[in-house]
Amino acid sequence: MSEWVLQARHLSRHYLQGQQLVPVLQDIELQVSAGQTVAITGASGSGKSTLMHVLAGLDAPNQGQVLWGDLDISSCSASELGQQRNRHLGFVYQFHHLLSELDALDNVALPLWIRRMPMAQAQPLALQALSDVGMAQRIHHRPAELSGGERQRVALARALVTQPRCILADEPTGNLDRETADHMFDLLCSLCQRHGMALLLVTHDESLARRCERRLQLQRGRLLTLA
Ligand code: ADP
Ligand code: MG
Repeated sequence: MSEWVLQARHLSRHYLQGQQLVPVLQDIELQVSAGQTVAITGASGSGKSTLMHVLAGLDAPNQGQVLWGDLDISSCSASELGQQRNRHLGFVYQFHHLLSELDALDNVALPLWIRRMPMAQAQPLALQALSDVGMAQRIHHRPAELSGGERQRVALARALVTQPRCILADEPTGNLDRETADHMFDLLCSLCQRHGMALLLVTHDESLARRCERRLQLQRGRLLTLA
């Protein structure tokens, strides 16, 4: 088994705008090891979300490879890719992307149902994940009945419930006030540490980036290491 939970090799992504080639990612190299916390910063439009989508296998690179553990994801069929993604990665976004008609418990159990785990097995795990993020008292609330910070905590529980080896978080605190953002970040780090999960965090919050073990910056399509 590879010591890396996530790797990008010579990754490039461009878009075509009319006849014009717009390069977004150029020859990106990235290796994330088990349990590591890595921050990616960069100006708006620098390609952070594009990179996350390519790493998540939601967008295909024009060149290069993405590996989840030892798995080169370009070798997967579409259905296999979905299953492998569900096993390797958890996601937290700037907006919670919870399903409005489901309560917190069902939203968190959803990735387990997708794995065909029976309800009787999935529910206690979802409950534990909600309890880990301090939301045990809100399990039957729907997203509309929760505050912004609470929704993000439910979204975090949903990312953790499958015990992935790596969490990809794209501006998870971008929509929260300072205090709630700090609390969310502390929770994210402590839960990743407790479960030995790596964290790849996109943020434009320098104070949060500095608290990660590694800091990288996207600039003109290149991923630079910050001291
Ligand atoms: P960030 O997350 O750092 O703000 P994005 O990854 O969203 O940046 O976008 C990077 C660049 O790629 C932007 O210039 C954006 O306009 C361009 N881009 C993103 N998606 C597309 C697309 N589907 N088609 C064309 N250009 C795109
Ligand atoms: Mg973005």
